[in-house]
Amino acid sequence: MKILVLNCGSSSVKSQLIETDLESIETNSDRTLACGSVEKIGMTSSVVRYEPVGGEVFKDTPEILEHKVAIDRLLHLYADPTRGVIRSLADIEAVGHRIVHGGEKFSQSAAITPEILKQIEECVELAPLHNPHNIRGYRAAAELLPGVPHVAVFDTAFHQTMPDYAFMYGLPRILYKRHAIRRYGFHGTSHRYVSYRVAQLLNTSREKLRIITCHLGNGCSMAAIKFRRSIDTSMGFTPLEGLMMGTRTGDLDPAVILHIMAKEDLGLSEANALLNKHSGLYGVSGISNDMRELEESAREGDRHARLAIDMFCYRIKKYIARYAAVMNRLDVLVFTGGIGENSPRSARSVARSWTFWASSHRTRTERRHPPRQEDCISCVSGPCMVWVIPTNEELIIARDTVRLILTGDPRPTNR
Ligand code: ADP
Repeated sequence: MKILVLNCGSSSVKSQLIETDLESIETNSDRTLACGSVEKIGMTSSVVRYEPVGGEVFKDTPEILEHKVAIDRLLHLYADPTRGVIRSLADIEAVGHRIVHGGEKFSQSAAITPEILKQIEECVELAPLHNPHNIRGYRAAAELLPGVPHVAVFDTAFHQTMPDYAFMYGLPRILYKRHAIRRYGFHGTSHRYVSYRVAQLLNTSREKLRIITCHLGNGCSMAAIKFRRSIDTSMGFTPLEGLMMGTRTGDLDPAVILHIMAKEDLGLSEANALLNKHSGLYGVSGISNDMRELEESAREGDRHARLAIDMFCYRIKKYIARYAAVMNRLDVLVFTGGIGENSPRSARSVARSWTFWASSHRTRTERRHPPRQEDCISCVSGPCMVWVIPTNEELIIARDTVRLILTGDPRPTNR
């Protein structure tokens, strides 16, 4: 089946056309046919990019003022007689939508009906910067592709298995009742994919594994996955909590922000920008939020870049120890995301020290980096294996869409 995957942000639409079915899910042989995106929607030169797999990249900068026009443009590229990968739009059999927040309402993906749409709209107050754009994308796609099923896949759903003692904050409980204040966690689709994939590569069942997944991109989060269920994760009510990230603080004594607001005379939106946009790797280094640039600067002797990288790695180490403790053991540690997949120094140094602690085996990280696309970077015989698995959130969205349509159940059954 040909599935369109859509991820709509405030001024962007990212999409992929993926061919998959139940058999190819099982054998991991489903494939992306083409990718297309539109950025800077609402500006005079939006940026359209389309790339059929194995074909030439097409770029254009037309004026695109709204999401519906952007999606329409992409659809016509997928079905274009010369560049396209399908004969007509009728070849698209379903659409999978990335929806950021499903609150406590969604613990798995759902086919979008008027009732489900209402429930997604009720989650807007939990993610006012994301869900409205996701919904706008759904409405546009439903108009452009009427008559095909649309499926919602939530970033938060995978973490809905957390026990209450992991998701509650030490605040008066009434605030949970009144405002749904609790840990939700994000990047769920990514944590789910890499934990599923590593079990598949190890030819074992996730029911037997205690896995820690580290998604290290611009946003960073970790998850403790015990016997296929997420039992804790580092992001919280919003993506601000947990690891230090490109521009986000991660964990911080909450009193610090109250103190800074008073001392620097900051309003709410300035404080929000400080925590989310001006902090993290960027704020500490004063150079960049990009790990490649920081590694370069650190090599050249910049001590603030070195400090930012050291803080980044130190936090990851602390979370690994926490999550190994709550699971009573660790079988597999997985790195993914731009930094996790590529960075030879930072994430790997964490893996090295972890495997050293867990066993006397040396990791193979010094011998081969960067690793192959999917690679075990530790000694296979040690008590804890360390893997690098490139994430593929779009694939999970396409697979859930197919499973829901064909079986009525989005959950993988095989492993
Ligand atoms: P996003 O969260 O936006 O999807 P990515 O997963 O693409 O982000 O990760 C972006 C981060 O990955 C940046 O900090 C970037 O510097 C880092 N990164 C990408 N490639 C490399 C590399 N080869 N070495 C080190 N860091 C890398």
